[in-house]
Amino acid sequence: MHTFWEPMADAALVGEVRQFVEDRIIPAAHELDAKDLYATEIVKEISRRGWTVTTLPGEYGGSDRGYASALAICEDVGYGSAGVAISLITIFQAQTMLKLFGSEKVKKELLPRFAEGLVTSYALTEASHGSDIRSLDTKAVRDGDDWLLTGEKSFITSGSAAELFIILAETEAGVSVFAVPRDSAGLSSYEGEGSETFGLRNGPHVNIVLENVRVPGHYLIGTEGKGVRQAVTVLDYSRTLAAGISVGIARAAFDGAAEYALKRKAFDRHILQFQGIQWYFADMATEIDAARLLSYRAAEALDEHRDVMRYGSEAKLLASQVATRVASQAVQIGGAHGTRVNVPFGRYLRDAKTYEIGGGSSEILKNTLGKVIIKAYGDEA
Ligand SMILES: Cc1cc2nc3c(=O)[nH]c(=O)nc-3n(C[C@H](O)[C@H](O)[C@H](O)COP(=O)(O)OP(=O)(O)OC[C@H]3O[C@@H](n4cnc5c(N)ncnc54)[C@H](O)[C@@H]3O)c2cc1C
Repeated sequence: MHTFWEPMADAALVGEVRQFVEDRIIPAAHELDAKDLYATEIVKEISRRGWTVTTLPGEYGGSDRGYASALAICEDVGYGSAGVAISLITIFQAQTMLKLFGSEKVKKELLPRFAEGLVTSYALTEASHGSDIRSLDTKAVRDGDDWLLTGEKSFITSGSAAELFIILAETEAGVSVFAVPRDSAGLSSYEGEGSETFGLRNGPHVNIVLENVRVPGHYLIGTEGKGVRQAVTVLDYSRTLAAGISVGIARAAFDGAAEYALKRKAFDRHILQFQGIQWYFADMATEIDAARLLSYRAAEALDEHRDVMRYGSEAKLLASQVATRVASQAVQIGGAHGTRVNVPFGRYLRDAKTYEIGGGSSEILKNTLGKVIIKAYGDEA
């Protein structure tokens, strides 16, 4: 991992994360991707080190370091493997939903489990509902003090390993959010047809089937009928960390291409001596730095609880596109070597492109930014 990319958060923490990434993640990354595996041991170890709870208050077992630390962790884990890093995102999403909207009772019960390594998924999508989750086929009905959930979720990241799901289901009042333990009677999962993706592979995205799954009343998270608002707020938070993963992918592709360009000779010189190649690197470094700075600005917005929607969307939009451009350029600089399956450039490109869709596609992010702009300027008109 090259020192060209100075830490932009707590340097001691970043140093520890980078060492872990070198020792544990980079050596495993190719196999995890090739076999589409969930890195259970690595993720549990990351949790045991306290790196999944940096934004949780101490009373729930967290270290309350702020969002720049969480971003730095995602960035450097993403450098080693975007598949491992996206496992952290689904943990962070569930945790954020509980932290922002859960009752004190459910927070006390569930949040401390994250420091112990709880693996979670965030289940919004259904076969007929992707970007548009305003109405859902998964239903929840009251039964005494409990809720009964029935339906099916698809494309659920980390779903092969999750011990707890945050699930969106529709009640009489509208879309609502529920916490559902994996071992609930009536819950099962299977690998959906065509659910294997070419990027962000952390175990196949599974379908979650709910057949009259009973959860206690306090597992309704937040306000009944306000689930879409809550889910989008959580996405606004996780988009900043997703941007960090894209920056990590871009940095890894850049470093790999730079190392190769210093080694590879053509026309009696190493190819980094060609000005045309240097210009590629100049453009890539500029774009990565811009995406990185914007991502840390978005983390600041999360700490300050303002402009979260704007900066989170901008950061993910820019960083995911930069990562795709840089990864593609890295393949180009590698020549035939860049296209080999046993070098990571192809993985970087697949992961980068996939993150232009997962967690909010570029089009949806632009729609969000359009609303932010209309609100700012329209209100003044
Ligand atoms: C790697 C990966 C991981 C995922 N993990 C999860 C997960 O853990 N949990 C979960 O719930 N879901 C997950 N998803 C699903 C993801 O959230 C959806 O794929 C995403 O919301 C887009 O929905 P869709 O694929 O149905 O596309 P659609 O909504 O059908 O959209 C198709 C195309 O139309 C565009 N489009 C849609 N609406 C508009 C509009 N209003 N204006 C302009 N363009 C528009 C989209 O941007 C896209 O380009 C994952 C997806 C991927 C690829």
